[in-house]
Amino acid sequence: MQVFCSPLRYVQGISASNQLAQQMDAVGMKPPVLLIASKSARSQAEKAWQESMKQMGWEFSILDFTGECTPKEIDSVVARAKTLGVKSLVGAGGGKVLDTARAAANICNISIALAPSIASTDAPTSALSVVYDEQGKVLEYRIFKRNPDLVLVDISLIAQAPVRFLAAGIGDALSTYFESDACRLSRKPNMRGGLSTQAAFALARFCFDSIIADGADACVAVANKLVSPALERVVEANTLLSGLGFESSGLAAAHAIHNGLTMIPSTHDFLHGEKVTIGVLTQLALEGKPRPFFQDIVRFLKSVNLPTRLKDLGIDVNDLNAINIIAKRATQPGETIHNEPFPVTSSMVVDALRAADALAAQV
Ligand SMILES: [Zn+2]
Repeated sequence: MQVFCSPLRYVQGISASNQLAQQMDAVGMKPPVLLIASKSARSQAEKAWQESMKQMGWEFSILDFTGECTPKEIDSVVARAKTLGVKSLVGAGGGKVLDTARAAANICNISIALAPSIASTDAPTSALSVVYDEQGKVLEYRIFKRNPDLVLVDISLIAQAPVRFLAAGIGDALSTYFESDACRLSRKPNMRGGLSTQAAFALARFCFDSIIADGADACVAVANKLVSPALERVVEANTLLSGLGFESSGLAAAHAIHNGLTMIPSTHDFLHGEKVTIGVLTQLALEGKPRPFFQDIVRFLKSVNLPTRLKDLGIDVNDLNAINIIAKRATQPGETIHNEPFPVTSSMVVDALRAADALAAQV
């Protein structure tokens, strides 16, 4: 069976925060509302949220997010939502705020709007939350029944954020087409347990074309705190196209290698998308993609200041102990690397990591 999932509504635009309550109303969300916000999202957008809620005559309160998406944090949002008797939740800020809000809304069985303030991953549109323990290690992936009712992207906030976040989102989005293609060829299931549709594959392909065409220009816009048509197209690619593409087409080697890289402490200072980038290059080496194509991708990554070498993540390519740890974790049973259209072993990943590094060094 083929399965395709998506949020009910995706809204993106300049000063979109001014429309929060109106857009929630448009998908049937109801007050009272509890909004969980990161400190920076609150300082940038609280005035706009207040005004929008006032125009609709909606009762709402704001809860400050304290930093990690842990079971304890999720439970405290659930308790607050129940005490206030809210009918809708909103998460505003980076990935961890959104994941916490999504998890709490699903536990309470109430509707959820997500308002990312950066475009650093493709998670906002999905039904998945990554939950961490108190030490900051990944504890579990929780997959919920419902995608968000609304994803509202205020492009003005994204233009004000550090360019590194946008570049990381480009790195995450770069993986979508290659992983989607692997799942299509192997006929392995997507994140929702079905096979990919043509629609999901087409979105993944268009995601790739968009970031290659506009990625560098979009980074220039954000470095200068400007909104441009290129930025609008790349934010859509990073958030909507990549989000729908990964969830409804599936993941493969690149994200499994990302998970392997997280085993090395030096990578903890790097963003998800920055690690996924090395995963992409390793997947291309593993699949034996032609050298000119591989090198074009490396040139593109350099144009947006993303890592291309293991040393860019603080890993020595000659440290075989570290390389083995990464490869072992990437190929553990149940990992998405087994969605590749051929069997993948740990020693193949060791060679692919080192081959990708050597090929990238030649660019
Ligand atoms: Zn990702």
